[in-house]
Amino acid sequence: MIEANNPNLESWVDVPDGSDFQIQNLPFGIFNTNSLSTRVGVAIGDQILDLQNLFECGFLSGLGMDLEDFASSKLNGIINHGKAKSSSLRNRISELLRKDSSELRDSENASSSLVPMSEAQMHMPVEVGDYTDCYSSEDHARNVGKMFRDPENALLPNWKHMPVAYHGRASSIVVSGTQIKRPSGQLKPADNQPPVYGPTRLLDFELEMAFITHPGKGLGNPITTTEAEEYIFGMVIFNDWSARDIQKWEYIPLGPFLGKNFASSISPWVVTLDALQPYRVEGPNQNPEVLSYLKFDEHSHYDIDLEVEIIPPNGQSKIVCRSNLKYMYWNMRQQLAHHTVNGCNIRGGDMIASGTISGPEEGSFGSMLEISWKGTKPVAMPDGSERKFIQDGDTVVMRASKGLIGFGEVSGELKPAGN
Ligand code: CA
Repeated sequence: MIEANNPNLESWVDVPDGSDFQIQNLPFGIFNTNSLSTRVGVAIGDQILDLQNLFECGFLSGLGMDLEDFASSKLNGIINHGKAKSSSLRNRISELLRKDSSELRDSENASSSLVPMSEAQMHMPVEVGDYTDCYSSEDHARNVGKMFRDPENALLPNWKHMPVAYHGRASSIVVSGTQIKRPSGQLKPADNQPPVYGPTRLLDFELEMAFITHPGKGLGNPITTTEAEEYIFGMVIFNDWSARDIQKWEYIPLGPFLGKNFASSISPWVVTLDALQPYRVEGPNQNPEVLSYLKFDEHSHYDIDLEVEIIPPNGQSKIVCRSNLKYMYWNMRQQLAHHTVNGCNIRGGDMIASGTISGPEEGSFGSMLEISWKGTKPVAMPDGSERKFIQDGDTVVMRASKGLIGFGEVSGELKPAGN
């Protein structure tokens, strides 16, 4: 066990019961305040440990990192050092925060190294180089296949042989709290009608998680399933906003484009893969047997509870989905091995999303498309209104947590189309 994950550890920093940010977590993010420039921090309870300050005071020397890694508006510097050094950094922070460690606790720098979260503004944690979106939940793929294709043969022939994915758009990935404007595009009214241009009428969320990579092995060098986790820095919650009507008209033959690339929202704290180790679980039985490059040894799925809440402008909110990352058919090892098996190279800060994470039964579906079953089963909201898809003024909030680990949340409010 990684000592920083020891469930018995306690911090001298006061951490509220039930906080997502226990000492066993220590996720990394980017923040600033009215008096502090943008920099790297680590969440602990409802405070942020200021890593630039810690480095300047000498607490993070000997780790092979530089001031520029911490006095930065992105985590890429830390991530680009690779797994061993970023893990050592988290271990060092864990040591400094432990109740029985006086080194930081009793130093004159203790108070200046902690910033209340309420005073901080969070930013995009990484410069995303490339973004790939997988389609790895069998329940989601089956639901979509049942709705739009053949209920008897809902999965396409390739689906159980490879983690299907497409290359998405990195430029429009935004941090939690960023308002999302309802996109416009081509809509196709009915079979014999020509397309029209206008705001999407079917604005949806997709409940996903995404992993962020360390630099890979270079062009032409595949990463195996055994090696894959050495190249994964951590994870965030990922809301892949989707315009279903634009998507439906455009996606054949080359796949998603404007129905997807207008925005995706992520949670601001990157939870390291190290911190998630206690939550490994066995995945579903994969049948038919996968090709040898997709086989793996250890339990490589992760047990993380997920939920989605819709908050209308009047505040009477509703949880519309409770799911879990463990429902994925394909795990991250397989996704990364497949992504690179042809020699495609990954870089530090690349983001690879899971695809919509649906569970097996109603209540665990990860998109309004499935929850409302293409609009045929509207969701009753507490104020008496109904939702088939997301309305202007609604805020969509996603949360993820398990045991001593939490991701905080990703939140986004939908604004009307136009200016
Ligand atoms: Ca997606």
